[in-house]
Amino acid sequence: MAIWVCDNCGFTKEWRCKPKKCSSCEWMNFSKKEESCGCVWCGCKK
Ligand SMILES: [Zn+2]
Repeated sequence: MAIWVCDNCGFTKEWRCKPKKCSSCEWMNFSKKEESCGCVWCGCKK
């Protein structure tokens, strides 16, 4: 699972694929942010 950050307002969404549109400001460009939780159960592949 990846964390996506809206380039415009900083809204974050946890989603497998890149979101098409920000649900806060409707911006359409997101940056991927890696999140490492260190566990083996959540499916984050860490
Ligand atoms: Zn936004």
